[in-house]
Amino acid sequence: MTSYLAPAPQPSVRVRAPGKVNLSLRVGPVQEDGYHPLVTIFQAVALYEEVTATQVPVGAGVSLTVDGPQAEQVPLDETNLAWRAAEALARFAGVEPDVALHVTKGVPVAGGMAGGSADAAAALVACDALWDTGLPRTDLAGIAAELGSDVPFALLGHTAVGTGRGHLLTPAMTRGEFHWVFAVREDGLSTPAVFRRFDQLSLGEEHDVALAEETPLMHALRAGDPHALGAALHNDLEPAALSLRPELERTLALAREGGALGAVVSGSGPTVAALARSRQHALAIAATWTAEGAADTVWCTTAPAHGARQFS
Ligand code: ATP
Repeated sequence: MTSYLAPAPQPSVRVRAPGKVNLSLRVGPVQEDGYHPLVTIFQAVALYEEVTATQVPVGAGVSLTVDGPQAEQVPLDETNLAWRAAEALARFAGVEPDVALHVTKGVPVAGGMAGGSADAAAALVACDALWDTGLPRTDLAGIAAELGSDVPFALLGHTAVGTGRGHLLTPAMTRGEFHWVFAVREDGLSTPAVFRRFDQLSLGEEHDVALAEETPLMHALRAGDPHALGAALHNDLEPAALSLRPELERTLALAREGGALGAVVSGSGPTVAALARSRQHALAIAATWTAEGAADTVWCTTAPAHGARQFS
């Protein structure tokens, strides 16, 4: 009888992190450091990025593969946010950045839904587990804020108020489940380009960014009232996104004609988010958008969703 030992499976860790929609996004005038002060209310949606971190031989460094919708639009080098997250964590923890990362996209690319930020958050949690660095969440959140303004929220998930550049977070209380439908465009918008247009249109000058303005929205969340939430949706970047992509006006109008409780450009766009009464209603809005050619793809989901979390 022959016996042999199968090679031990390579340890690997899988983590999911959510995309987001900004229920409200208020943007102040650009400051000397080039940033705009924000007051925003993030909600995580159940569209997830999956990052698998697999152990590799010592000295192999970071490698990256990507699959899923729009994967061909995602960089595969050290500019990818997941790659940068692995390197930042290794530096912080004083370990070698040896890992094979695989990203499965589940959030639109360059769609204003922070898919890249979700990859960074998921890579932080995955590499922390793989390398057994055991960092507290507060350290991971600090590294996350260095990687990008939306990364700390992808770690936290659920619903939260973001101030500063959007990276200073306070969890918000919500009740129940909300039904969202997203009109996604293949051709994304660059977030810096939208902020540049915002500055050109001098939109920041007209606004104070104050949390007090969010009282009706916070009430709606606490009450779990989708009608009140729909009426309170707001995005200061919307005029800038519409000026770059005028066709989004029709996408918003179609959602409202279809009885959406609210419709808004998601973050810097070009994704349009519509709040529906139910899953059935979300599917009906999606069908209208598809029939009218108002979106390249339509994605229905629920919110709030959990933050970056290991699932195997
Ligand atoms: P945000 O709302 O956070 O500003 P977004 O959702 O509009 O961003 P992303 O999909 O996060 O856009 O990425 C925007 C750009 O960043 C992409 O066009 C791509 O060139 C680059 N990028 C870097 N890393 C990633 C990643 N892991 N996934 C997707 N894009 C990435």
